[in-house]
Amino acid sequence: MNKDILEVFDEKFPIQHHECDDCWYSCPKASDGCCDESVSDECNCGAERKHEELRDFIMKALQKKESEIIRKIKMQITKEINIAHSENQPTSRLTSLYMFISKLK
Ligand SMILES: [Zn+2]
Repeated sequence: MNKDILEVFDEKFPIQHHECDDCWYSCPKASDGCCDESVSDECNCGAERKHEELRDFIMKALQKKESEIIRKIKMQITKEINIAHSENQPTSRLTSLYMFISKLK
């Protein structure tokens, strides 16, 4: 799921390298490239680094949110198991659900 989100992110926010009227100062990865042949073909404007930072931030935020949701669901299932125990009700279905949720992480 998170990979899909990053693919959409990449499509919606493509990397935009620095392009200058004087191509000597453009990033080598800009659409028209850089006229300074002494520089490498690597991005030197910071756009790729910034894009990776944003992707990393998004992934970490999503993982954190997922972990919070899974933790809350597990807590609720545990409460339900305890209630079922106190009422002498079977807990196998709740335990199976707990195990399923645990494997999602
Ligand atoms: Zn660049």
